[in-house]
Amino acid sequence: MSERINKRIVLKSRPHGMPEDDNFEIQEIPVAVPGDGEMLLKTRWLSLDPYMRGRMSDRESYAKPLDLGDVITAGVVSEVVESNIKDYPVGTIVSGMYGWQSYAIGKADDQRLFKIDPDLAPISTAVGVTGMPGQTAYFGLLRLGKPVAGETVVVSAASGAVGSVVGQIAKIKGCRAVGIAGGQAKCDYVVNELGFDVCVDYKDPSFHKLLADACPAGVDVYFENVGGDVLAAVAPLLNKGARVPVCGFISAYNATSMEGLKTPDMVFADLENPPESRFFIVTEWLEEFEESARALGGWIKEGKLKYRETVVEGIENAPSAFRMLFTGENFGKLMIKVS
Ligand code: NDP
Repeated sequence: MSERINKRIVLKSRPHGMPEDDNFEIQEIPVAVPGDGEMLLKTRWLSLDPYMRGRMSDRESYAKPLDLGDVITAGVVSEVVESNIKDYPVGTIVSGMYGWQSYAIGKADDQRLFKIDPDLAPISTAVGVTGMPGQTAYFGLLRLGKPVAGETVVVSAASGAVGSVVGQIAKIKGCRAVGIAGGQAKCDYVVNELGFDVCVDYKDPSFHKLLADACPAGVDVYFENVGGDVLAAVAPLLNKGARVPVCGFISAYNATSMEGLKTPDMVFADLENPPESRFFIVTEWLEEFEESARALGGWIKEGKLKYRETVVEGIENAPSAFRMLFTGENFGKLMIKVS
């Protein structure tokens, strides 16, 4: 039998601005043999997420940066192909944080290892709508946004993995859902397919006016995904008592200096009635992930939660596909089909 090869992608150098292909190295090494209490996992789906950009820098952040030579961090959906763990027989589908590689060794007590129920939804969704991005929307909106029926909920990056779920949950809760996205095609999708009330194109020269028109009763919840000019446009529309779950600010992730960057705290400090706002990390609710996955899967089954995936084939294409998150070329959850 020919030797099995683990194709993996490591950080070769730290990107300056947009990550380039030569910041990464593709390595091929023999697949490890699982020992006692271990299992061999074959990656089926690999998630590409904006937070990975932060791990590639050596800037201080909530998570430790990658060292040069480390496999790039990522959530994956894998199949158990060899097992020395009774509870994880061959054929079990799991999700976990095993990175940009085609095989990994897993242990039962690995952090963020979950068994995936293929009957709940297609297994790829375990890195998308029922997985980390869906849960980010779920907990960020419900626990920090605290939407009340009849209120206006605005979300940026509205066609994306997190934003698309935020707006649909807002609709489920009886709110007016206003999306912000780049381009007509994405805005049309957000309204016609996902059922938001309206979606505004932030690339339109009249963006600020269009957004104000879309929110005649002001904004009660702003789910912040992008920062920058979009944040500046939403801020003056916030109602007294508004809530702003600060999820991310992708417009700044490739910035090469801090000059001119405005954080939500800086922008809100100028407001007469600053909103209740806080940055959160989805893992704050890790203990509740299985429960929320079932809630999200249930909404999919009921036809209340729709999703879209941008699938790129082949792990060797992860570096180029990763850039799509920052150019807006992804449309919905971006992932790599590995095998
Ligand atoms: P998406 O699927 O939304 O993809 C990223 C999208 O961001 C792009 O498609 C693009 O959409 C938009 N975008 C990129 N650059 C800019 C820019 N300069 N200005 C405005 N929009 C831009 O990604 P995710 O749903 O995975 O992530 C969305 C946000 O959520 C990110 O900020 C991410 O870091 C954050 N996040 C935070 C988590 C947490 O625990 N706090 C967990 C998961 C995600 P368009 O074409 O519409 O511009």
